[in-house]
Amino acid sequence: MRFELDTTLTFSGDIEVAEDDVDRIISIANDDLLRRGVPDQVEDGGAQVKESAIQQDNLSLKIVSDRYVRAHDAVLRLKKRLNQELGREYHVGVRKVKIDHYTIEFELDRGAKEDISLPYVDNIDIDGKRCEINISGLTEEQLSKNYVDRIINRVEEKIKAQYYEGKEEMWELLLKSEEKDMVWKKDPTEVMEEKGWIKRGPTKGKWFYRPEAAKILKTLEEIAVEEVLEPLGFQEVIESMMVPFDVWIDTGHMEGIPNEAYYVSEPVTRNPDEWEDIIDEIKITQKVPLEKLDEMTETPKAGICYAQCPVIYWSLRNETISDESLPILLYESTVPSARYESGGRHGIERVDEFHRIEPVYIGTKEQLVELKENLIDRYRYVFDNILDIEWRMAKVEPFYLQQAGGTEEEEETDLGTVDFEAYLPFKGSRENSEWLEFGNLSIFRKYTEAFNIKSQTEELLSGCTGIGIERWATAFLAQKGLEPKEWPEGFNEYFGEMPEGFDLL
Ligand code: ATP
Ligand code: ZN
Ligand code: MG
Repeated sequence: MRFELDTTLTFSGDIEVAEDDVDRIISIANDDLLRRGVPDQVEDGGAQVKESAIQQDNLSLKIVSDRYVRAHDAVLRLKKRLNQELGREYHVGVRKVKIDHYTIEFELDRGAKEDISLPYVDNIDIDGKRCEINISGLTEEQLSKNYVDRIINRVEEKIKAQYYEGKEEMWELLLKSEEKDMVWKKDPTEVMEEKGWIKRGPTKGKWFYRPEAAKILKTLEEIAVEEVLEPLGFQEVIESMMVPFDVWIDTGHMEGIPNEAYYVSEPVTRNPDEWEDIIDEIKITQKVPLEKLDEMTETPKAGICYAQCPVIYWSLRNETISDESLPILLYESTVPSARYESGGRHGIERVDEFHRIEPVYIGTKEQLVELKENLIDRYRYVFDNILDIEWRMAKVEPFYLQQAGGTEEEEETDLGTVDFEAYLPFKGSRENSEWLEFGNLSIFRKYTEAFNIKSQTEELLSGCTGIGIERWATAFLAQKGLEPKEWPEGFNEYFGEMPEGFDLL
């Protein structure tokens, strides 16, 4: 790795008088300050000021370095030293650090398949495994906030992603139920719509559930709570449905799914006088003047819940959990999730607004690995004995984690994610059709780290498991049909009588 930085430090006054001292400070720094942190066995490592020139209150420098003391760190070190020494003697200090030009050269693991561009970067030249990044115009603040390191990481990440394009996600079968007899081969969403149990809309990817369908969904929720969560000691919480961006930055959602999030904007003002114009227009035209509305609403700074776990982690940010309370077992079921599924929308199982119970657990690795086994046992009981469905469980690695270069989770077999999938007979044969992911279960290290959630003694991990109600419903109804008399007894005990509903003419 080679860094070459042309930079200009602007002082609060003329420093031409201090030229000798500046030269002396630089020369000493070259031998010592700019080499600090270099491993002993590396000879001539670190950063070096190769050229310097003074003109009135400006000091121009060319700094060349390796990866041990990167040139952008070296200039900040040098600035501090100059301030200390020249401040005392000449009463001047550095007012501004300007990056005139920054070139970073490094070796890639693999060459790029396509050109790469990035913000804050003039150009990225890739020649085989050699990469050169040219930057001008980063501010001192941006340098000290590690923009350069993140730019380098992003280049490597983008190249990795080029190799993953078109590849399958990692999928490994762990468990499989017995084969079950299927009651029918119809798509339950279509038939429920024909029967008037559900109504499409009012906007895309949403459904209105009339009494019959609502009772099926509510029953599944009840089964999950009573058969899975309560026996294991989960406690219910209620969270906000609007998630500020800083929370999603910390969970990684903001960079992972910005294209699937729904965004929320606030009114610019609550003052009715300022809304008068829009109100007049609505009264007269019976339409919403969208351009005017745009002016009266803020740029979003939050999104609608995508999964409930981020806000649960937020609620514990910087907290220390007492050892007696560990593991903490919580679940949230009041907030719906919104996802812009676009072309992927299908039935009630892939929608833009869905209902899910999300249990979240925080504890030591040992506690969570045991909990995972218990959760799987309870799920298994429900799928086999109450819903009586055909399902399987597989270990998966989400795509975005694969392309981010794998994770620590991947290397520890107990960590990572398993998916629960159900056979949907309306989609084709068991072998050739895609099964439906109707739930998942994960253990992570990254969230307790990101939100600084600690225990009194041991390191904490966390995890969550998604109980997607519409997905459970689709799995059940696609295999068992819509006739209660065909449904398993265990389900009917929870379900009771089918609601009367109503007829529309
Ligand atoms: P998929 O790969 O099917 O899009 P996902 O990996 O995006 O699923 P997760 O983010 O793991 O799903 O969400 C957890 C659970 O939420 C899923 O197991 C599923 O039950 C449910 N779910 C996710 N997206 C939807 C959706 N669009 N409609 C209905 N349920 C959903
Ligand atoms: Zn989650
Ligand atoms: Mg998805």
